[in-house]
Amino acid sequence: MKFNLTRPKPKLPNSYFWTWDHSTNWALDDPGLVNFGSWNKNLKKPETFIEDYKRLIDTASDLGIKGIIIWGFLRDSHGGVDFAKKVASYAKSKGVAILPGVGTTHYGGVYYEGQHKYNINSFLREHPEAGAITSKEVGAKRSKDSVCPSNPLFKEWIEEAFKWLFDEFEIGGCNIENGDFFSCYCDDCQAQKEVWPKSDPNFFRYQALCNKPVLDIAKGIVDKDPDLLMTWATYCGFVPEKLEGEPDKPESYIKGMGTDRPEIFNQLEYEGIAQWTLTRMVRDEEIKLLDFLDEKRPQSAYDNPSWPKDIRPPSKRSTGFVHQGSQWDYSPWETKSTRYNLFIGRIKEACLRSYEAGLEGVSIHGELTSRHIPAALNYLAFSHFTHWPEDTLRDFGKKTLGQVFGDEKEGEDYVELLALWEANKITQKERDLVKARYDKAYEIIVPYSKDVEEDQKTRFFFWNWLYRLLSGFHGIIESFI
Ligand SMILES: [Zn+2]
Repeated sequence: MKFNLTRPKPKLPNSYFWTWDHSTNWALDDPGLVNFGSWNKNLKKPETFIEDYKRLIDTASDLGIKGIIIWGFLRDSHGGVDFAKKVASYAKSKGVAILPGVGTTHYGGVYYEGQHKYNINSFLREHPEAGAITSKEVGAKRSKDSVCPSNPLFKEWIEEAFKWLFDEFEIGGCNIENGDFFSCYCDDCQAQKEVWPKSDPNFFRYQALCNKPVLDIAKGIVDKDPDLLMTWATYCGFVPEKLEGEPDKPESYIKGMGTDRPEIFNQLEYEGIAQWTLTRMVRDEEIKLLDFLDEKRPQSAYDNPSWPKDIRPPSKRSTGFVHQGSQWDYSPWETKSTRYNLFIGRIKEACLRSYEAGLEGVSIHGELTSRHIPAALNYLAFSHFTHWPEDTLRDFGKKTLGQVFGDEKEGEDYVELLALWEANKITQKERDLVKARYDKAYEIIVPYSKDVEEDQKTRFFFWNWLYRLLSGFHGIIESFI
């Protein structure tokens, strides 16, 4: 779907889509398509990697979204260096920044999968003595998938690999991770505790150890091109809340840092951009569409003990990441993920609160094709609220959906109907209105006109989805793309 949007300068300029290559499905007929998993093998054809990302890049460009994170950017199984170059260069030509996922001590390294010197497994085959000891058990062997950050070979290898990445590809930055809650129990990594504040959470200490070499190199690269986004995952929210459970084993998507100020922010010469996980800082229950139909700052967005109103992250530069609306988010009361859900209220909340907390951008997942209408609506809402975080839902209808439909009133009607549907307040009046809009859009099919423009098709599929939703005859909600 093509969205011809005009956008002003965004208030959250450094916003981006987050993706894994193997479950980013914009081309729908590849036999290797999967919609789950985190460090999967790539089962799709190499050409599909390019096609999937071309379509997502076009959409990001239409939406005015600055970047796309790609975990699995470099793999032998989808064209290696050549195909990664094609994706990065195409993105650059469209004004979109590709941010490859960079595993420092885990997650494949700079070259995610394959026979390459900057791939972690290849590196550890040559230097098994540099493997991390990831278990506390006496006599535990060195890992073949994780590198020990205290080993001198690690620093030399990761610095060289990181420089190569920026020399070789027309990328717009990177997204650094050290392996979620990585630990190494070798003598050197344990001895390093002695020169580190005892109160600092262990996972932040390892982030400093593992990520510092690349951030130091990143500084020199950013000095030459300040527009690059050197982001790194903190794996937690930015509230100074004590961690629950063992400090070494925090739950995924923890909301608190476990300290007022992680030591990493006192130690790094160049901090890059800290990407905070907002997944458990945002409300447990999504705010209602009616709450912000006409309210710029709805009270419900602040009715949230997990995100105190005036809190600011300790980092100099920050972005936020929400997992809602992805395969990695499960509602506590559901057994299925929220990958296919509509989550406009969540996007509004995350953008508004992030903007007020001084963040530069927000990140959501971009793995689903916009042919899935809830995903298309999420992407359009993401575009809208990263540009105007303080706008109402009605503004979104008029200014963004209005442009998609070529009619402001039609866009406004759409969001109003959606908000009333969510609140279970649909009456015959609304049913008549949606039927009339649907019938008009349906004219491109019966009786068909000779020349159907792409925007008429888009308009039809949006109304088709809402009409079926409101009439109780959807049958199209569950999807496997
Ligand atoms: Zn170690």
